Amino acid sequence: MKFQDEINRRRTFGIIAHPDAGKTTLTEKLLLFGGAIKEAGAVKSNKIKKGATSDFMEIERQRGISVATSVLAFEYDGIKINILDTPGHKDFAEDTFRTLTAVDSVIVVIDVAKGVEEQTEKLVEVCRMRNIPMIVFVNKMDREGKDAFELLDEIEQKLNLKVSPLSFPIGMGYDFKGIYNIWENNINLFSGDSRKNIEETIEISDIDSLEINKLIGDSAAETLREELELVRGIYPKFDKQEYLDGNLQPVFFGSALNSFGIRELLDCFVDIAPKPRPKKSEERWVEPNEDKFTGFVFKIHANMDPNHRNRLAFIKIVSGEFKRNTPYLHVRHNKKVKFSSPNAFFAEKKEIVDISYPGDIVGLQDSGTFKIGDTLTEGEYLNYKGVPSFSPEHFRYINNADPLKSKQLYKGIDQLMDEGVAQLFTLELNGRKVIGTVGALQYEVIQYRLEHEYGAKCTYENLNVFKACWVEPTDPKNEEYKEFLRVKHRYLAKDKDDQLVFLADSSFSLQMTQQKYPSIKFHYTSEFQ
Ligand code: GDP
Repeated sequence: MKFQDEINRRRTFGIIAHPDAGKTTLTEKLLLFGGAIKEAGAVKSNKIKKGATSDFMEIERQRGISVATSVLAFEYDGIKINILDTPGHKDFAEDTFRTLTAVDSVIVVIDVAKGVEEQTEKLVEVCRMRNIPMIVFVNKMDREGKDAFELLDEIEQKLNLKVSPLSFPIGMGYDFKGIYNIWENNINLFSGDSRKNIEETIEISDIDSLEINKLIGDSAAETLREELELVRGIYPKFDKQEYLDGNLQPVFFGSALNSFGIRELLDCFVDIAPKPRPKKSEERWVEPNEDKFTGFVFKIHANMDPNHRNRLAFIKIVSGEFKRNTPYLHVRHNKKVKFSSPNAFFAEKKEIVDISYPGDIVGLQDSGTFKIGDTLTEGEYLNYKGVPSFSPEHFRYINNADPLKSKQLYKGIDQLMDEGVAQLFTLELNGRKVIGTVGALQYEVIQYRLEHEYGAKCTYENLNVFKACWVEPTDPKNEEYKEFLRVKHRYLAKDKDDQLVFLADSSFSLQMTQQKYPSIKFHYTSEFQ
């Protein structure tokens, strides 16, 4: 197959959802339809079980699963689909943000009863900022939930999206009779035998057909016709280009658990979802069909076996072909490296591959040379943007609890930070190290892993920080900036890339500082150029 054909047939996407909305179930059903797995239950949920925060076996279990489900690939209708796993748990939101830099589109899963939930809001906002094309899937239609119009309203308002329903439910919960497929102009009737892998459906092609009255009853048929009339009146007609530009989001309804509405979703997805998209580097835009390979690291996974410190770096291929045993430039190190056993991912296994294409993810064995955000090329000095750090929510000093193991401790901290488990800040005042995380759970993960993988012990000490703000002076030489550096010395730190960060202790003090030093910009993310 030609290089361009390989690009054209790839779809790399992520499923985002608040925990429990049905991401794992939907993933599994997509794999079932793709023939990649034989039975339900094969995809493990990467969820942290409730109340398991101190259960370290649970953390290890979760890490194991998260390696296994990082990338799930399958073929459907000649299309190669790569699903990138995005943890829904809020303590791992940063991991999800980074994964979103490697997807070309997303499917947003919403629970019909719970509506738009907090984690979905945050993740959709990130996608919106990057104009990532989104398809919305309203799940659990077999349960009582919100009225479809009410829910569509909520999606538009809370998620700031412009929706265009491509299917519409007939009843819900106990009364759920099926869905009308606006995209294909037919009806699929639901026969509520839950837990069947693939639901059999009856198709009807004409909305005015009296056949519908026979199947769902006169009153349901009337209601459906009225509702479809309303849909046509209220919502914009689906437009593929608008969707690809991130301005319009098609909506499907269904029930992942019952495999209902999944085929419709998948057929539409392979039809409209974007093939690998061009990506911006600091230097220029890079097109997937350029013949020279480029790619970037969006995720690093430590080996689960503490005796082998090898890690797996996940690279998204942006352009060209990635070939085994070929020397590539590690741009940050200015060094050529080659890989004898790059892994490609499938539904239930990973395998060494000779060649991968734009849109694909390869896993590279790494002994500590990669950091999240690193770029690989065939020789060009390119740096991919867009794997920013966000201000953490929690901050604690990290102290060495075993003076004989300080080397191990610092090595461990360094490597865990490269993996993106948390962020490290070093105070300008006294060189003390501060760990910033999105969730409190990460502190336990770090402590546990330092001990078990590096043989080092640490303790934490609370530090009162409201937000970490990356500092950008208009002119580093002006008096105002010099005064800021002097007066706020106590609150300044360097991040892992030696960028200056202001650790504001309250929202009030941040405001005051902004007012006092108007020529300085304070950013909540590390990437602002
Ligand atoms: P995740 O946290 O988003 O990965 O959610 P899961 O896929 O693990 O689903 C959470 C729970 O919702 C599980 O108990 C599923 O069986 C259930 N669930 C998923 N889809 C449906 C559905 O369509 N209908 C019903 N009734 N339950 C569902």
